[in-house]
Amino acid sequence: MKRLAVCVAATASAIALAAGPTAAAPSPGRHGEAARHHAPARPASESARLARSILNTKGITYAGAHVGGTDKASLPKQNLVDVSHGRPARTSPWGHKKGARVALDTRMLTGVLKLNTQYHYRFEISEFVGGEHSSTSKHYAGRAVDVTWINGRHVGKKADHRGFMNACRKLDATLVLGPGDKGHSTHVHCQW
Ligand SMILES: [Zn+2]
Repeated sequence: MKRLAVCVAATASAIALAAGPTAAAPSPGRHGEAARHHAPARPASESARLARSILNTKGITYAGAHVGGTDKASLPKQNLVDVSHGRPARTSPWGHKKGARVALDTRMLTGVLKLNTQYHYRFEISEFVGGEHSSTSKHYAGRAVDVTWINGRHVGKKADHRGFMNACRKLDATLVLGPGDKGHSTHVHCQW
């Protein structure tokens, strides 16, 4: 991808040089063509790179279904795939923000990645922006993650949720909820 970008840019420069001074004011048609050719060569955004890194991390896995309904387009792995391709993540067609498209926050993505690479947790993500959350939930802003399995144990059934929650806090999460907090007996919520 990077090599292609360099190649295309070099070709465009060569054409501009060969065309001489008139190239400084290209015709609208030619300008349009150049813009179209350059579009796919844009460098990946930080969120796209982070999403790709998370997808490539073996210790991070994903729920294959939502709790409240069936919608593959808003499953957590698909949220990351979309963002890795430069597209916003999709919410579910139910809940408080139906069928929306939202970016995933780079602080949240960095935290999720480091929970594995820095704190060595193996965990399963149940939701990013999909599923149903409270009306003002930061899930709908792409700033929260829910985790149901930690190191092979389900949250609420002997998983080390305290250690995991502390790791979220050390990674600068601004709100961390889990067993003992209302509505969080079986999952950990970390938000940035
Ligand atoms: Zn949550």
